[in-house]
Amino acid sequence: MQRTVEPAPDSPIGLGLEVRGDGLTVVVADAAGRIYARSAVATLSHVRRPELVLDELADMAQAVIREIRRLGLPLLGATVAVADELGWIEREVRATLQARLPLPIAVDSSGALGALGELSSALGARVPDCAYISGGREVTAHVIADGQVQADHVHGVTLAALGHVCVDHRGRWCVCGRRGCLQEYVQRASLLRDAGLAGGDVLDLLEYARAGEPRALAALADCGRWLGIALAGVVNLIAPPALVLGGDFATFAPWIVPAIGDELEGRVLGSDQRWPTVVVSRLGEDAAVVGAALASVAGATR
Ligand SMILES: [Zn+2]
Repeated sequence: MQRTVEPAPDSPIGLGLEVRGDGLTVVVADAAGRIYARSAVATLSHVRRPELVLDELADMAQAVIREIRRLGLPLLGATVAVADELGWIEREVRATLQARLPLPIAVDSSGALGALGELSSALGARVPDCAYISGGREVTAHVIADGQVQADHVHGVTLAALGHVCVDHRGRWCVCGRRGCLQEYVQRASLLRDAGLAGGDVLDLLEYARAGEPRALAALADCGRWLGIALAGVVNLIAPPALVLGGDFATFAPWIVPAIGDELEGRVLGSDQRWPTVVVSRLGEDAAVVGAALASVAGATR
């Protein structure tokens, strides 16, 4: 277990757990999103049996809980961030983990908890009114309004389906059975393939981009353009004051933000006052698991 800071004795702390398609992470964080302990493994959750993945996650969480209790600190609860791409049923995840862990367990989607992490963590973007868009193995998007992450099931605007907004009606086939969905152009697998790095990972693409490799740069510029086309639609519809980029979109911001800006400039109606600020997250891939820990603290202290 990696411990980054010593907890102050009176800090309420909560447990955050995350299941992504390619890994598991457990953190302990306080109400400001400061991480006190972190444990992570890479594993192909999307092709493994859920009960085995959750068993491994429970083992990781138990080790962290033992360590925190050894320090004499009370943990308020645990929240599990589950990637939408897995298609797992939240109540089953909750029941499985509740049987293994001695804390109240809540479950939510990684996208929503990532938005919460960005909103509330000291390291997050902390923009109270924005559209938050995160890239990676999947594309997630949420509206944050008046300092609240807008839940998918509540009336109001959500961006939950942004990854399946059509940006090219004769374009690539999507897993949803339709053509030209945004995610087929900007999710990690597409980016790597377009850059000639199929089978590689984010660090490979980062290395090629930093070296100025033309195909990598072209793939990232294209990603920015497709994203900009979709986001211009979002701005024309709901005019968020800011667009917060997270996950891979934050990692590759130096190469994709200029193209996003060009598309916004060309496509957003009205004066330049409607053009939103583009903010790059500093939380990186921990946004959802930190958001999960924050949700545990907030849920227990509410
Ligand atoms: Zn689709």
